[in-house]
Amino acid sequence: MDFKFGEKEEKLRAEIRAFARVELSGHSVVSGLEEEGRDEDWEFTMQMSRKLSQKGWLTMAWPKEYGGQGASPFEQLVYIDEASYQGIPGTTMGVSGIGWVGQSLMLFGSEEQRKKYIPSIAAGEPDGVWCTAYSEPNAGSDFANIQTKAIKSGDEYILNGQKIWTSCAHRARWCWIAVRTDPGAQKKQHGISLLILDMKSPGITIKPIINFAGVHIFNELFFDNVKVPVANLVGTENRGWYHLMQSLAFERHSIAPQFGGMSRRILETIIKFTHEIRYNGTALAEDPVVRHKLAERALEMETLKMFSYEITWKMSRGVIPIYEAARNKVYCDLVMQRLATTGSEIIGAYSQVDMWSKWAKVMGNVTRLYMMFPGISIAGGTDEVQKNIVGQFKLGLPRAY
Ligand SMILES: Cc1cc2nc3c(=O)[nH]c(=O)nc-3n(C[C@H](O)[C@H](O)[C@H](O)COP(=O)(O)OP(=O)(O)OC[C@H]3O[C@@H](n4cnc5c(N)ncnc54)[C@H](O)[C@@H]3O)c2cc1C
Repeated sequence: MDFKFGEKEEKLRAEIRAFARVELSGHSVVSGLEEEGRDEDWEFTMQMSRKLSQKGWLTMAWPKEYGGQGASPFEQLVYIDEASYQGIPGTTMGVSGIGWVGQSLMLFGSEEQRKKYIPSIAAGEPDGVWCTAYSEPNAGSDFANIQTKAIKSGDEYILNGQKIWTSCAHRARWCWIAVRTDPGAQKKQHGISLLILDMKSPGITIKPIINFAGVHIFNELFFDNVKVPVANLVGTENRGWYHLMQSLAFERHSIAPQFGGMSRRILETIIKFTHEIRYNGTALAEDPVVRHKLAERALEMETLKMFSYEITWKMSRGVIPIYEAARNKVYCDLVMQRLATTGSEIIGAYSQVDMWSKWAKVMGNVTRLYMMFPGISIAGGTDEVQKNIVGQFKLGLPRAY
């Protein structure tokens, strides 16, 4: 086993650093998920997507025929980690052209769909911004309970129903949506299909939900006889549950490098702060309680890093990680929660200051993380659901659903 990256990966990291130094100077960077960004940050986010594409990084792990570079999983890891560390926005193309739509289309989409939708994602164009509509008011963890119906009529599906928590729907050109195409199926996991929905279709109503940080990320979507061409069915009709399991694995395995890079940066800024602030005549960095807390956070982050290297190594050998992706998600949530709590304890009253205010300390990042971690631990499958997966696939416990 070699714990060193090769020359290629180190060169890539240095290039991303240099890119960030030039491109991010003078901008109030949106750290974290760009779909969390305010409206005034969105144009910059899209500019960065285009530039990342021009650099060949945006979809670097995709095959060349689909606008990628055929990069190795380790190069991809370095890119995600460093871009997150630097706080470069624009890496996902909504929720999420890059995270799962492109890869799922390559796996089970038609050739026509690949040609039509993948190039705009890889080019970082506004036409390549996606949202994902799985959740409904009565179907979150219990995804198989979705009720939004798409009933076939000639060469169209007629869509009726409601989705909720659809991040980025107000910016997305396309929606990756799960619907019920066979309401009479005997098992609820059967009769589900994946469709590509044009967000400009008549009959769609988008209602914003403002989150507790005062930011518009989520939406409710209502469908009133929306027409979707049958050609927009992805994969096999009524096999959506099985396609979705693969898409979710794509979603979860990139979480550790993404949040690992971001957390590392935040820890560094907190450490810098402890050197600058004095309490009763001594720098906070000399306080034993503060030092121990920082050391604990650093050790947790090292563990997360090892988890993300291990999953990447397995993927580079063709293993499809299931338990490991769930493990990384649970552990990542724990790392972020503890880092946000330690950071808030250290910056004290400043953790109450608006994260975009000029009075914010450590670039508002501790407050942002504190606001963000509860949502992250729910998005993409809650911690409890991930632990069920660990129980089943690692410990051989009975299935939890
Ligand atoms: C930041 C964020 C972004 C999101 N973006 C999107 C998006 O873009 N598209 C989309 O479709 N959805 C999105 N969601 C919704 C998300 O997928 C759901 O919130 C999530 O699946 C949980 O569903 P729920 O809210 O209905 O909670 P529920 O499923 O009702 O869960 C409630 C509680 O019960 C627990 N629980 C449920 N089932 C079990 C079980 N079997 N065993 C143990 N505990 C259980 C859960 O862990 C949770 O604590 C987003 C959510 C967040 C927070």
